[in-house]
Amino acid sequence: MSSYELLTYHELEQLSKEELLEAFTTIKSKYMTASEHNSYLEVENKKLLDEKETLLGEIRESESLYKAVIENSLDGTLILDDEFTVIFGNEEMYKIGSYSSEDMFALDFRQFLPTEYLDNFLERIKFTIDNPDTDNRFDSVLIAKDGSYRNIYVSASLNKDFQGKSAIICQVLDISEIKKAEETVRKINEDLEKKVIERTQELEKVLRDLKVENIERQKAELELQEAKDEVLRALDQEKELNTLKSRFISMISHEYRTPLTVILTSTYLIEQFYQGPNQLQFNKFLDKIRASVKSMTQLLQDVLTIGRNEASSTQLNVIKIRAVELCKEIIEEAQVIDNNHHNFELNFTDKSIELETDEKQIRHILSNLVTNAAKYSPNSKNVVVNVSEDERGVHFQIIDEGIGIPEEDQEHLFDAFYRAGNVGAISGTGLGLAIVKRCVTLLNGEISFRSEKEKGTTFFIDLPKKLEVSNPLF
Ligand code: ADP
Repeated sequence: MSSYELLTYHELEQLSKEELLEAFTTIKSKYMTASEHNSYLEVENKKLLDEKETLLGEIRESESLYKAVIENSLDGTLILDDEFTVIFGNEEMYKIGSYSSEDMFALDFRQFLPTEYLDNFLERIKFTIDNPDTDNRFDSVLIAKDGSYRNIYVSASLNKDFQGKSAIICQVLDISEIKKAEETVRKINEDLEKKVIERTQELEKVLRDLKVENIERQKAELELQEAKDEVLRALDQEKELNTLKSRFISMISHEYRTPLTVILTSTYLIEQFYQGPNQLQFNKFLDKIRASVKSMTQLLQDVLTIGRNEASSTQLNVIKIRAVELCKEIIEEAQVIDNNHHNFELNFTDKSIELETDEKQIRHILSNLVTNAAKYSPNSKNVVVNVSEDERGVHFQIIDEGIGIPEEDQEHLFDAFYRAGNVGAISGTGLGLAIVKRCVTLLNGEISFRSEKEKGTTFFIDLPKKLEVSNPLF
């Protein structure tokens, strides 16, 4: 057949294999000679080779890119075969355990894992193999070259065709520092929790103590209030008693004064009208009555003075007084009362010592102390009065060699009605020193004493040279 070119597609389909071959050859010989055919094939062949070269180039490029990415990755990359042999590790991977590639490459990776972490690692890898599509991440531990442990974070995946085999590809991160930091934070938290517990306990204790203290304070306040009320009540009673006392004292004193005056004037009248025998004897009794009246009047005067309120008015009359002369007068008066039973002596640094003060008060002070010195000394003993002055004022000393004042009585000596335990039969009221003390205070002075039982007593009086009276009515 020579006209194969004119056949339809359907007719060509009806041809046998041989007929087809013949048709093809016929058509081909008609269009292309053998040499043409060869050069056609060569061109096609070259095209294919070029294409292959281009593809290989692309593959190499992508491989080196891929390698560069892996090699320069900041994460460690580890590739294990199905028997855990290290078939690849990048620099970062080896760096984690301070290894070189020779230390790890082609070795069983399991030897780099602590026994206690091995099972977990293998389990996770098995899971990765069984679930190739799951992203499998877990913590583990790597034994470093120096034997220390490094904490690692692994992201494992399965590659079924790595250089023709299955391989496990692990991205490995060194998280030791993070773990350390975590541990530090955990410890800090633990410490904090402990501290919070301790502090809470302390606070609870303080709170408990405070509650107890509060209760105690309330109790104490209540007791204090009660005590205060009690004191106020006592004060009121005391005030009332004092008022009653002073009213009583002044009433008694005034009521006694008139009868005493009557008694005294009556003695003079009786003396005048009595004409009988025993005149001398009679007058002696009258003198006794008069002396008793005098002592009772003095006592009444003392009681009134001491019973007078502090705020009561004592008019002070400040005048210039010659101290030595005053003492001389007082000693002379005392000698009369003493009936010359004692030796009185007066010493002074300067005869002209002067002071400006109230005469009545200073007389009362000195005469009381000089009389006492004689009263509390056995007969024939000495009573000495010393007068001196300096820039602080005028000083008096009244010295005796008498019975002295027992130590236990000394602190109460200036209390009204107080008498020492050794006075025996010597009469007295215990009011004199209380009044002396009051007078010394009025004159802005000071009084003190030194005494030894059965050896004697010295009283010291210090008075200012000039008494400043801001208010003449005290
Ligand atoms: P009295 O009236 O008792 O003498 P005073 O107030 O003058 O009262 O004295 C109080 C007490 O001080 C006396 O009772 C006495 O115990 C004691 N006393 C005072 N002066 C002397 C002294 N010179 N020697 C010893 N005791 C003294």
